[in-house]
This record gives sequence, structure tokens and C-alpha cells, in this order.
Amino acid sequence: MSLTVHPGYFDAPVAQTDPLIAEAIAHELQRQQEVIELIASENIVSRAVLEVQGSILTNKTVEGYPGKRYHAGAAHVDAVERAAIERACQLFGCRFANVQPHSGSQANHAVLHAVAQPGETILAMDLNAGGHLSHGAAANFSGRWFQVVNYGVQPDTGLIDYDQVIDLARRHRPKLVIAGGSAYARALDFEAFRRAADAAGARLLVDMAHFAGLVAGGAHADPFPHADIVTTTTYKSLRGPRGAIVLWNDEALTKPINNAVFPGLQGTPFLHIVAGKAVALGEALRPEFKAHAAAVLANARALAARLQQHGYHLLGGGTDTPLMLVDLRPQGLTGAPAAHSLERAGLISNANPIPSDTADLKVMSGLRFGVSGSTTRGFGTAEFEQVGDWVAQVLAGLAANPQDNTAAEAAVAEQVRAMTRRFPIYGG
Ligand SMILES: *Cc1c(COP(=O)(O)O)cnc(C)c1O
Repeated sequence: MSLTVHPGYFDAPVAQTDPLIAEAIAHELQRQQEVIELIASENIVSRAVLEVQGSILTNKTVEGYPGKRYHAGAAHVDAVERAAIERACQLFGCRFANVQPHSGSQANHAVLHAVAQPGETILAMDLNAGGHLSHGAAANFSGRWFQVVNYGVQPDTGLIDYDQVIDLARRHRPKLVIAGGSAYARALDFEAFRRAADAAGARLLVDMAHFAGLVAGGAHADPFPHADIVTTTTYKSLRGPRGAIVLWNDEALTKPINNAVFPGLQGTPFLHIVAGKAVALGEALRPEFKAHAAAVLANARALAARLQQHGYHLLGGGTDTPLMLVDLRPQGLTGAPAAHSLERAGLISNANPIPSDTADLKVMSGLRFGVSGSTTRGFGTAEFEQVGDWVAQVLAGLAANPQDNTAAEAAVAEQVRAMTRRFPIYGG
């Protein structure tokens, strides 16, 4: 027995060895069980995905790619990473995948690194219009190292103006056009983006982080063959571990992309997370995932329609994805206080800027809702219509009593708790 480790090192549960952390996790489990999760970037993973992330794969270090590692003893993790790559390619109908990016931002940075030189131009959606930080926002490395030209959305419709995208591509000749964002609810016109990229001789990146699960389940148009490269996080609608993947078809991109991920941006991959990606991608290949994707879309549309019936303005007029963005200005509300009041009622969302938002950046004028997590839990359209009624009830209370919305919050909280009891997760 090793004398350099404490008793129970190899076998004792964390509840015994580190009660402070164990207790925080126990409380977080209870919170997840008892609230209705509406944060668009979250989901609820399977026991299997949890299990492999907590596995001994965390002990293994490699560099490079399967079959070409710089460390010995890689045979079994090579099998894991190869499975993740094969499943990603099968699921999304493409030839190549890199499953190592630690996050969606790093996947996008790798693509930038692969196809553009610092100082060159990229064309992407404005952060305020629903774009993502890693698409060239001023505060992000991507915005500091590249010349960024932004397209936005039309003020009246909240929809992308594709003539503007094509015109900007023609005038600025970017090396990369990026389609996708984190608060744009409608389907993207991949063909129009392709025309924009072609007009500039650029590569087209589709970042499908929020709707990848729908693509996987056949409930959304496929970004291939229009896109040259597709990135997605694996923890949102794909229902896997935290991290991301990069997908492509053109063999000429293989070296630049793989070299950009490693050694360009990252060192050793998180092999326990790669295993989680493999398991989640395997789950997404199962027939049940098709039903799940269809349910996500139906639920998103049910919640969106119910909020609209209550008089709420949705950017883009509805949704084709798991998410929706609500403009709170007509109700005289702002995002952060609204999200806090909803949280006290057990409804978890996030404040979000809306296009050309003038409110303070810490407050914001919008709320973003997503249905992926609660759909995994088993909610159907009836539950989401009820959720829409509760959101409206809490927000109406807040508009009437900005200082103290306790009555509405408490009334809804009790019903939320009753509903979550009907849809237990992880045994409770
Ligand atoms: C969530 C998201 C990402 C990446 O997020 P990380 O927090 O870096 O994992 C990238 N692009 C889009 C469009 C996203 O929504």
C-alpha cells in the first residue's frame, strides 16, 4: 500500500474525503431536480456520459492524434477517440472530424487559425444581433487578431438580411464567412451564406452550437454541403459533455485544422471528455434521438407561441431552433431583474442583449429561453405551454410590482415544484 496517499485515496467517495465539495454537488443536484431549466446552452446528460467523464481516462495523457501519439500507452484511448471521430462523421454525414476542442470558442479559434492569418478579414454576425464572442467580438482574441466585418439583423423583422451579407462579402473580401450565433432563433439560409462566401472566394464556417442536436435528429436543414467547415459545442442540443467538435469534407483542410487544434491552440486532449463525446454521439445515432429532436422543435415552437399569445415580442417572430429571444421593452421590463424574478419562481433563464440594445450591459433588454434540458427531462408541448403561462404570470407581476414580486413568484414556484416532481432526473 502506498504511504504517500491518504487512507481511502483509491476507494473512498468524495462525500467522505471532501465533504465541502460533496455537499455543494448534492445541493446542485437538488437544484437541477427542482427547477425548470430554460437556459439555452444547457442540457441534462445521460448517466453514461456522466460516468465516462468521471472515469480513469482522466489519468491518461497523450499529444497528437490516434495512431500518431507522442506518448506511449495510447492504444485504448486511441480506440475511444477513433470511435468519437467515426460517430461524428456518421451522424453529420461528413468525411472528417476533430473531437479534441475543449470548448466551442476554441473550436472556432482553431478554424480561424486554420484558414486566416492575423490581420485578415472575417465576416460574422454582430454580437449584439445574436452572434458569438468567438466570432470576432472586440473583447475576444478573434476580434483583436482579425479585421472583423459584421452583418446584423433587420430592425423590423429581426431576420438576417442576406443581401447585406452578400454585399459585405463582395466589398470586403473576407477569408472566412461565419454563419450562426448564440441568440438567433431562426433557421439560417445556408445557400445564401454559400453565395456570400463564393462572392469573396472565402471559406464558409457554420457554427451550429445551438441547433446541432436538431441537425443530428433530422429536425433541421443540414449545413453540409454548403459549409466548408462546421463547428458545434457538444453540451447544448447535442446533450454531451462540455467541449466541441470541428467537421469538414475537403481533405485540403485536414492538416490546417488538425494542426490548428494541436499544437496550434491546445496541448493534450481531455480524453475522459472525448469519451463523453463518443458516448453522446452514439446516443444521438440511436432512433430515440430523432424523436427527441422532433420534440425539442415542437416544444420550442409551443413555448414561443404561448409567449406570443401573452403579448411578448420574439425576435425573428418565432423559432426554428431550441432557443428564442424575447424583447422585454414593450412590457417596460429589463433582462436581469426579469431573470432574477423568474429564478425565484424556479424558472431558470438568462438575460440577453437584443439587437441594438441600449440598456446597460449588465441589465440588457432581452431574455433568452431554450427547451433542450427540459425536453430531455420529458416535458412535452402541454408542459411548455404551461411554462409559457408561468413566465407570463411572473413577468406581469414584476411589471406591476417592480420592488416586490414575491406573491407571483411564490405562487408559480409551488406549481413548478409539482411539475418537476412528475419528471424526475437522476433518481429524484
Ligand atoms: C455556446 C457557443 C459557443 C461556444 O461556447 P463555449 O462557451 O466556448 O463552449 C460557440 N458558438 C456559439 C454559436 C455558441 O452558442
